[in-house]
Amino acid sequence: MRRPETLPQDRRVPWRFRLTLFGIGVVTWAVQMGLRGRPGWVETAYSNTIYPIVREFVGTLTGWMAYSFMELIVLVAIVWLIYKAVTVTRSVYSRRRSLRNAVAHTISFTLTMVGVFYAWGMFGWGFNYYRKPFLQVENLDRTGIKPEELRAVSQKLIVEANELRIQLEEDEDGVMRTDDGDRAALKRVRAAFRAPGVEYLSLRDGYVSRPKGLILPVLPWLNIGGVFFPYTGEPNVGMEQPVHDRLFAACHEAAHQLGWAREEEANFIGYAVCRRHPDADYRYAAAQGALAYALGALRQADQDAAAAVMLTLSKPLQRDWAASHEFWKRYDTRLADAALRVNDAYLKTLGQEEGIRSYGLMVELLVADHRREAHDSR
Ligand SMILES: [Zn+2]
Repeated sequence: MRRPETLPQDRRVPWRFRLTLFGIGVVTWAVQMGLRGRPGWVETAYSNTIYPIVREFVGTLTGWMAYSFMELIVLVAIVWLIYKAVTVTRSVYSRRRSLRNAVAHTISFTLTMVGVFYAWGMFGWGFNYYRKPFLQVENLDRTGIKPEELRAVSQKLIVEANELRIQLEEDEDGVMRTDDGDRAALKRVRAAFRAPGVEYLSLRDGYVSRPKGLILPVLPWLNIGGVFFPYTGEPNVGMEQPVHDRLFAACHEAAHQLGWAREEEANFIGYAVCRRHPDADYRYAAAQGALAYALGALRQADQDAAAAVMLTLSKPLQRDWAASHEFWKRYDTRLADAALRVNDAYLKTLGQEEGIRSYGLMVELLVADHRREAHDSR
């Protein structure tokens, strides 16, 4: 007797339904192509209308728990995929199922999943990659940046960071710590996003949910401090990194959730919002995070100026940075390199031509912000 080509459980999802789900992915792709190069449309029709509703709805659904749904979902998905791969292989091997049937179903399943997750990711957040640049929205100028400006920005940030650092508590190694525990501290990031003190109109009174600290120590191995997961609307951060890095990552990921997808903008907006945080630890995390980028750019533009400015870094700030250096050095492996390349390719596919170098473009925004401040105080 001929073996049946299809097992009963494969009939559970009719092919028409699968085709529809895949079709949703195709439609999303068409929408993405249409919106590319039309930032004004994206700004009006998505970032300022649809996305804020999605953000608050999904954020409320997932934000009540201190732990990450992303972590749970990814773990379950990995276990389930391994289980599926093993059972399908076994059924082919024991001839309960033909190879052709197994391959056909794997392809159709993969296409369906790609369609669904691609559409969900784009409508749930991803179209924000194509909105107007923050510079344009807020009328900022970043043209012709001079080394003197980089020096001025660095000096200003050092003064800020040095002063704030004095107010903070330290652990036994003399490194900054928060006084309310690691997870409670993450939750406090929201206070800055709700505060009315932020200079930029487009950043005022934005809803963000609580950032989640991940249980598994995976992120440092991938060379990242945090990740925003659009499927659950969760800003996630690694708990192993030093506190100032972790708080800066929380500001960055919350800025992503606010609707700013590009890396340099998330960096800058995380800083611009968190420097108005009611608590000194967040203000410090913001200042030192921005400072690290400003100094990096100044070093490239004028090494002597950078060396002179760095002499004014306070001892406690230097201890914090030494702790960061020690921490990230431990994860400087081939896996981290590979992860960097993946992140680079991912960003480039989504239209961030500079790839991982985008993070550093934050400096242009810092200078633009410095010019605005100078202009306003005149
Ligand atoms: Zn980011």
